[in-house]
Amino acid sequence: MRKIVFLFTLFLASTLFATDNNDGKRVIVLDPGHGGVDTGVKSEDFQEKEIVLEIAKLIKARNKFQDTEFIILRTEDEQMSNENRAKLISNFNPDLVLSLHVHSNVKSTVKGLEAHISPMNNCYDDSKKYAEKINHKLMDLGFENIGIKENNTKILRDPQAPTVMLHIGHLTNEEDKAIVTNEKNYTIIADKILEALE
Ligand SMILES: [Zn+2]
Repeated sequence: MRKIVFLFTLFLASTLFATDNNDGKRVIVLDPGHGGVDTGVKSEDFQEKEIVLEIAKLIKARNKFQDTEFIILRTEDEQMSNENRAKLISNFNPDLVLSLHVHSNVKSTVKGLEAHISPMNNCYDDSKKYAEKINHKLMDLGFENIGIKENNTKILRDPQAPTVMLHIGHLTNEEDKAIVTNEKNYTIIADKILEALE
């Protein structure tokens, strides 16, 4: 009996240790999409790669959670392959991954928030919860909510953590564009995303 108790304690300790691998801190990786020659969606002078980088920096700067550390995958205007992004993400051993994008559509009438998650990710259910919560908060800016779509791209599939690709509106729609290119909204977008992570 004593041996069983010992083994159970050992098992418990190892699982605790395994989940507490970042000094007890919650590590959230922010992945601003695109970069370098890969601009993402463009409209007039506005480029997706710049918008999402600004928002990522603001999320990190406005973080008030004592127990949470944000890591931004690219802090400069540099091109990164999906393979590299996925590799870097796994090195950080994150508790959550948020990939930041602005969407586009051939139809300029298509608008709204659209979050992508992968059914092949181990943490699909939690990914879905975060996606719903964040989209719900971002609706406060006046966005419509298209909802959640499934996407098995490497960045969403590989991480051993809840992973969500956010599309913060459509740059190809005039109403969304007015929201997502107004720099005054960037701090609000950052704060709404932070609120969803409480
Ligand atoms: Zn994108």
